[in-house]
Amino acid sequence: MRRLTGAGVSHGVALGPAVMLMQNPLVIRFAIPEDRVEHEVVRLRDARERSKRQLREIGARLDLRARAELRYLFDAQILMLDDPLFVNRAEDLIRTERANAEWVVWRACSGLAAVFDEVEDPYVRERKGEVADLSGRLRMNLRRARDGALFDEVEDGAVLVADQLSPSIAAQIDWTRIQGFATDAGSRTDHTAILARSLHVPAVMGLMDISARVAPGSMLVIDGTMSEVLIEPSADQVAEYRDRRERWVAVKKGRERQGSGPAKTADYLEIRIDANIERVADVEAARQQGAQGIGLFRSEFLLAGGDGSAVAASEDAQYELYRQLVDQARPDYVTVRLFTEAALDEVAGELSARELRGIQLRALLRAAIHGPLRILVPTVSGVGDLRQTRTLLAESQAQLEGRGETCGPLSVGAMIEIPSAALTADMLAREADFFSIGTNDLVQYTLGASRSEPRAAALYEPLHPAVLRLIRQVLEAASRVNVPVALCGEMAADPVALPVLIGLGLGTVSMNPAAIPTTKQIIAQLRAETLRAVTTRVLSLATAAEIEEYLAHCLGRDPRDELPLGSAAEGAQT
Ligand code: PEP
Ligand code: MG
Repeated sequence: MRRLTGAGVSHGVALGPAVMLMQNPLVIRFAIPEDRVEHEVVRLRDARERSKRQLREIGARLDLRARAELRYLFDAQILMLDDPLFVNRAEDLIRTERANAEWVVWRACSGLAAVFDEVEDPYVRERKGEVADLSGRLRMNLRRARDGALFDEVEDGAVLVADQLSPSIAAQIDWTRIQGFATDAGSRTDHTAILARSLHVPAVMGLMDISARVAPGSMLVIDGTMSEVLIEPSADQVAEYRDRRERWVAVKKGRERQGSGPAKTADYLEIRIDANIERVADVEAARQQGAQGIGLFRSEFLLAGGDGSAVAASEDAQYELYRQLVDQARPDYVTVRLFTEAALDEVAGELSARELRGIQLRALLRAAIHGPLRILVPTVSGVGDLRQTRTLLAESQAQLEGRGETCGPLSVGAMIEIPSAALTADMLAREADFFSIGTNDLVQYTLGASRSEPRAAALYEPLHPAVLRLIRQVLEAASRVNVPVALCGEMAADPVALPVLIGLGLGTVSMNPAAIPTTKQIIAQLRAETLRAVTTRVLSLATAAEIEEYLAHCLGRDPRDELPLGSAAEGAQT
């Protein structure tokens, strides 16, 4: 048995045979049952034939366009497809390793590429690029032929090991069939980690090289609560973890039956708890976990997956989605964060990012007639960003009215997640309807510590005095002009940081739904009056380590021992 430690990003235990995913490039490796091996060989042959047909067609089109000189590139790929170095090796791998065709194509093409690497002639060496192209085409044709979801053929109850797992791929996985995941890259504040917590999928990220250490099919335990992965555990350990998993599932079910309404401290201060969600279908789950409204809907997740560009370009499709959100959350509000620049860059094609933003705003204005809807401007760096959005909003409204459509009211909030926004919070407060502090980014940009780089984890300190000062500054600026403030970063669900945030005067938090029940329990044990005194002392301390030590002392013990960060208190109960 080997034990690896990473960042437990989503609580719970999962165990099962490992299925591998290499996202870069995207390849899955799973074991083919003995009686399906020849079927897999046929799949590969079909994909080869289909690829050859496509390459010939491309060649013919180039001939027609008098670009015959380019045709040799595609002819070369056809030759590669017939090369015994490729064909024999690929079929051998299916038979000897019982590997799936996608994986075999990747391996055989990597072998072919390595041969090109050794060639001295730079012209021939350059042909390596065509091998990668060919590999992509073959895998595309295999995928099309399979015509199903990503893990359709993987047995139920497997756990996933990946080099990296992007949120869009994670969002496509059927997590009722895959129990949990472990990845080389990533950390607690990654969007994939956030998604895992919302979906209650046990996960450990930032394991550096687990994808190179685990053989497909080997037994794995993923313990997201204790941040550990066990490779090939003993029979006793398997029994122990099965037992833990069963108890975790039972605890999770118990916690899901929570009432809604605000949390209250022991001395009756009300703290509003909203939910951060990524999918329309999550509203109901958020309610069940005790959320009041939707404090953050990360709309860029609507663009994840193959049809992202189509959704971004369709006002009607988006209107329908926002209307469903509003319908389900009524009478509470929904806060839709506008598409981030990065998400828009990925889908922008014929339409510019500005045009796509206009489409989103029109869809939101139309949906706002159905119930309370707020928009949140992401990565605001100063007042200019807010004004730009308001101008675009006014233009969008005029366009809709010109079409005879009715618009609902939209409040406009600023996401405070860049230090420049926190430092100009007094100016922003005069022009924003509300603030939402995004500490996931605020911490990384303040401390220069990437949120997704496991090696920078030690530098990523939410309780750093600089971060606390910025949050205090935002709260003070907003309270002077009565602008409501929420905090929607993961820090809100951190049982050590939350008392300080309440002590600073924060009255609304928004978090992943799974964290809400535990957070309500923690709040019920706190006294707001004491927290104000504790926070005054915290603000006089010079390092995050001193602050954590002091908090551990005055909260009795490190609450993380008992109520680990994030989803629930399973650690204490298993
Ligand atoms: C944040 O930055 O704290 C936040 C909530 O936004 P995201 O995690 O989507 O960047
Ligand atoms: Mg952010």
